[in-house]
Amino acid sequence: MPSLRVRAAAFPIVLVLIVLIIADLSLCAGDPSLAAVVIPVSIAILVMLSFTSLWYAGRLVRPISELMPTVDAQGRLEFRSTRTELTPPDELRALAITIAQIGEKQHRDELARQKLERVRSEFLGNVSHELRTPIFAVQGFIETLLDGAIDDPAVNRDFLERAKGQAERLNNLLNDLIDISRIESGEMRMSFRMFDIQPFLRDFIAEMQPMARARNIELYFTGNVLPHHEVSVYADKERIKQVLINLVDNAIKYSEPGTAVKVELLNGEPRAQEVTVRVIDNGIGIATEHLPRLFERFYRVDKGRARSTPGGTGLGLAIVKHITEAHRGKISVTSEIGKGSTFQFTLQKEPF
Ligand code: ADP
Repeated sequence: MPSLRVRAAAFPIVLVLIVLIIADLSLCAGDPSLAAVVIPVSIAILVMLSFTSLWYAGRLVRPISELMPTVDAQGRLEFRSTRTELTPPDELRALAITIAQIGEKQHRDELARQKLERVRSEFLGNVSHELRTPIFAVQGFIETLLDGAIDDPAVNRDFLERAKGQAERLNNLLNDLIDISRIESGEMRMSFRMFDIQPFLRDFIAEMQPMARARNIELYFTGNVLPHHEVSVYADKERIKQVLINLVDNAIKYSEPGTAVKVELLNGEPRAQEVTVRVIDNGIGIATEHLPRLFERFYRVDKGRARSTPGGTGLGLAIVKHITEAHRGKISVTSEIGKGSTFQFTLQKEPF
């Protein structure tokens, strides 16, 4: 099948050829001297017309050929970027650009879909791995007890305690997973209210004191706010408590006994309409290379250490980030190995 360009040029050429033959026949009928002039002129006109038609048909068809997608190494359709040097006719140029844009959008959507698919399967892989560890541990303790350890007073209680610890870990993991999926699907409704953050933080610290004392850690409140000065924030109390529990729990968990953890309230920082809450510890710290990924789901600095730490799911900071962002706040961390870490988040002082 001839190309579109040749087919587009053929029609005017054939049409003119027929007109010229009829004209030549009627002009030259019975006059050979006239035929000697008219026929070469006709041929010359025809040759010129053929070139012009082919050239013009080429211009018409070129924008269409520019649209042709190619197939890349992974077998995906690849559209060339929208060519701005395409020349008129404008209708075809506009059509070419529109189709190329549709092609590019389709390509972007496909890449986003593939990314989502990768994240989803990575998440499922992580979830099953995380669930398997405590389940196997519980199974192991129970089997050892059934195999006779139950009658050995030196280990039976210890094994039961450990099985209980792993069951708690499983429970924490499931709760965190439910929270993450509810936040990400938008199902977790926030119940924003204006409330005074200072007494809220002081009450929270009082609640956490037994846990801090159990690890011989001094937990206290500080900040740039006078004791009875009201600082109202627009937030969901329960969710902010969940954020604080995660941060303070980590600060205590990753600190040595005898050190201090403080919760600091900075009113009007970094902007007048915001407050900053900081949880500062003098614990083991986190190496700089881990900081950018710390808020990712299941990201752990030291997998062995974190798993052996009771209650750790690797989801806590991901939840904290989601909740603060739902409050139009920002969360960040600074840390130095051996010196300690500071986690801070902002809250709005006005309804949004
Ligand atoms: P986990 O439940 O394992 O503590 P998180 O999401 O809360 O998970 O924290 C992720 C990782 O960040 C932890 O495994 C730990 O290595 C590190 N981390 C978090 N907070 C601190 C902290 N205050 N000091 C040192 N390391 C921390």
